Amino acid sequence: MNVRRRLISTLAATAATTLGLATLSACSGDAAAGGGDDSGRIDVVASFYPMAFLAEQIGGAHVHVSSLTQPGQEPHDLELSAQQIVQVEKADAVLYLKNLQPAVDKTVAGSQVRTKIDAASLTTLEKHGNEVGGHAAEHDDHADEESAGLDPHIWLDPVRYAQVAEGVGKAFEKADPDHAADYKKNTAALVGRLDDLNTKFEDGLADTRTKVFITTHAAFGYLAERYGLTEEAISGLDPDSEPSGARVRALEKMAKADGVSTVFYETLVSDKTAKTIAGDAGLKTDVLDPIEGIVEGKSRGKDYFAVQEANLKALRTALGSK
Ligand SMILES: [Zn+2]
Repeated sequence: MNVRRRLISTLAATAATTLGLATLSACSGDAAAGGGDDSGRIDVVASFYPMAFLAEQIGGAHVHVSSLTQPGQEPHDLELSAQQIVQVEKADAVLYLKNLQPAVDKTVAGSQVRTKIDAASLTTLEKHGNEVGGHAAEHDDHADEESAGLDPHIWLDPVRYAQVAEGVGKAFEKADPDHAADYKKNTAALVGRLDDLNTKFEDGLADTRTKVFITTHAAFGYLAERYGLTEEAISGLDPDSEPSGARVRALEKMAKADGVSTVFYETLVSDKTAKTIAGDAGLKTDVLDPIEGIVEGKSRGKDYFAVQEANLKALRTALGSK
């Protein structure tokens, strides 16, 4: 950006190198840009994969995107290092999702970053999951009163994710008016792909033997609601919480009554609980990916769209699509 910004970036990059952390921001596939930005591109720091993906798709060649959550790292309850706090401070824009990662919320709120984009403010959030001890509930003391208990997993609903994309596009246009036409075009293309994905889910899940599915982590509430399904989660909104014995017995009973065939687990978290419950109830297990990160060789696809297609396929099989 301007010379002063460039100087600060260079200093920060030097500091990072001195600390042996030169690879700090080399996580979005554009390692060449490193920590500094002398190409005139907007430096966007994203909180985790679904935000980084939006920034990359919409920003295209005009942005350099880095993510605070590394591939394979579980984003809930992320702690930020001192270097990552510097990374946020020196960013031109931060794209995050309030109420998912309290450490990120706190750092962004305390920073002077000119463009702060909260994805949660760009769509509608709801309370989901009747689970006690869900992620948001545990962090009530950190979260805003009115946002406490709201389900943050909006990106798994293509319609809500498209609404966020529209808002991000507008924020980029405002932050970098010289490239507004490109941001508009890229946003329209992304929203078009999300519309197509929505249609595929609607068609693919319209006629199924059962509408109920079991997951380990209550990430699919918005997706379930969008397509008329019922998600029964073993644990709450936070994947680390353990289910009670009573909850497990209730799930087993429900599985029988609703003709559930499969217990879903996710890519970044242990499948132990899912396998135990499935074993006891005589059910299969499969992966339903909350797309909180993409890990090469582990995720069922290279990006958001590919993994959502894999999720649709897994749901169709588990629900018995006709
Ligand atoms: Zn989650």
